[in-house]
Amino acid sequence: MPKKTILITGGAGFIGTHLAEKLLKSGEEVFVIDNLSTGSLKNIAHLKKNKKFHFTKDTILNRKKLENLIKKSDQIYHLAAAVGVKTIMEKPLESFLNNIKGIEIVLELASKYKKPILFTSSSEVYGKNDSLPFKEEDDRVYGSAYNDRWGYALSKGADEFLALAYFREKKLPVVVVRLFNVIGPRQTEAYGMVVPRFIKQALSGQPITVYGTGFQTRCFTDIEDVVEALVKLMNHPKAPGQIFNLGSEEEITIRELAQKIKKLTGSKSKIIFIPYTKVYGSGFEDMEHRKPDLTKIKKLINYQPKVTLEESLKKIIDYFHEN
Ligand code: UDP
Repeated sequence: MPKKTILITGGAGFIGTHLAEKLLKSGEEVFVIDNLSTGSLKNIAHLKKNKKFHFTKDTILNRKKLENLIKKSDQIYHLAAAVGVKTIMEKPLESFLNNIKGIEIVLELASKYKKPILFTSSSEVYGKNDSLPFKEEDDRVYGSAYNDRWGYALSKGADEFLALAYFREKKLPVVVVRLFNVIGPRQTEAYGMVVPRFIKQALSGQPITVYGTGFQTRCFTDIEDVVEALVKLMNHPKAPGQIFNLGSEEEITIRELAQKIKKLTGSKSKIIFIPYTKVYGSGFEDMEHRKPDLTKIKKLINYQPKVTLEESLKKIIDYFHEN
């Protein structure tokens, strides 16, 4: 197979660097554009040694730069976006606008040069729908317009709409992937994600901070399973024009997660419970449960998550020890 040239927007972030690593390993040429708002140079230091890796520090809103990169690429993974509930709550306007404006430019240019694109959306789009597990065609249910939390879901939902509209009206090959709580080494605790936060707290002897009752559940997905599936979806002829859930079916309460991390790290940290209002202000609504129905992705690319939660947590704990 001839090697491809691939563009990853947001490629210095947690998911992007793992994806770049995988593509480089299979011999592809990888271009990354990232404004380092949440990505970091440390994340890509090891990739910079590879001659096939190219990094541009810029925002995707810089049309000229983006156009040059898209022109020379065979495929585009659009990952650049505001990240984490904490970011969204702290900078609702900026997050919303960046998510919308970013994909608008990326899709327009991808369409101009007819370049296939994969867009990573989020399980957040299901909102507070409580009929589990979530299927791709399920309703999206959002709370009050006065609640900033739903801004993220709305922006990702609008992004999905744009992506599918480009597929339908402009025949642009676009794949939409809804990610469910991806975890792995290099994910930072800075944007509120629970797993790196708990591990850091446990290793430093700080209290492990469970928000709310801790009975809310999530299905955490290891980054290795995620990047493998992303590449398969991007290259599958039947994927364009479709939405796929990508996650794991192993469900855990946040309370159990805290206990598991405490045990795996051998930590003496206390597990404490903090009301949401103390963390995010009054009126914050969390998603109680999030579980993907994986029928569709299993059928198309034979997807089966290989890394268990415990294995994944051990890898991340090792990473924190090394760093
Ligand atoms: N969470 C928690 N303590 C923390 C950070 C997060 O209990 O220090 C909870 C959070 O309220 C949510 C779950 O862990 O119920 C997952 O949070 P995360 O931000 O990682 O992902 P998301 O909410 O987007 O699923």
